[in-house]
Amino acid sequence: QPQDRPQARSTGERVLVLIKPDAVQRRLTGEILRRIEAKGYELVALRVLTPDAATLAAHYAEHVTKPFYPGVVDYMTSGPVVAAVVAGQRVVEGVRSLMGATDPTTAAPGTIRGDLGRDWGTSAIQNLVHGSDSAESAAREIAIWFPELT
Ligand code: UDP
Repeated sequence: QPQDRPQARSTGERVLVLIKPDAVQRRLTGEILRRIEAKGYELVALRVLTPDAATLAAHYAEHVTKPFYPGVVDYMTSGPVVAAVVAGQRVVEGVRSLMGATDPTTAAPGTIRGDLGRDWGTSAIQNLVHGSDSAESAAREIAIWFPELT
């Protein structure tokens, strides 16, 4: 039994995390991964890439017809992202809690978005990080970003 993982059991629950271009550019990758690891979750896959439009359209399928989507494409293709698969008991809920609310201006202090984010006056909400919102979304998104894992 690893000493840093008291009584841990593998549940197979996984979540897709994206450290978005604003976070990578601001050199916050380590800080965000630190918070996820410090919470006790396990990093099981990690990749750096600049997403293309097709990958984003698949990832944001529920948003492609919305008025803010073109801004999201500009934002998310502006530079590299760090994609990660993170595992642990109730990790979907736990990562959502670590991230905080979508709008970083009002996201609770103590969260990634609340502590590290703000409104920069850009058309898309630049909020540093993405985490899947359900186990079903996680499975779908992991297949997009890490096809070799499925
Ligand atoms: N977004 C935006 N404007 C909006 C809503 C969303 O720019 O009015 C962006 C923002 O970067 C957000 C992403 O689109 O993180 C996905 O939106 P969602 O509502 O799924 O929020 P999340 O799950 O990321 O908190």
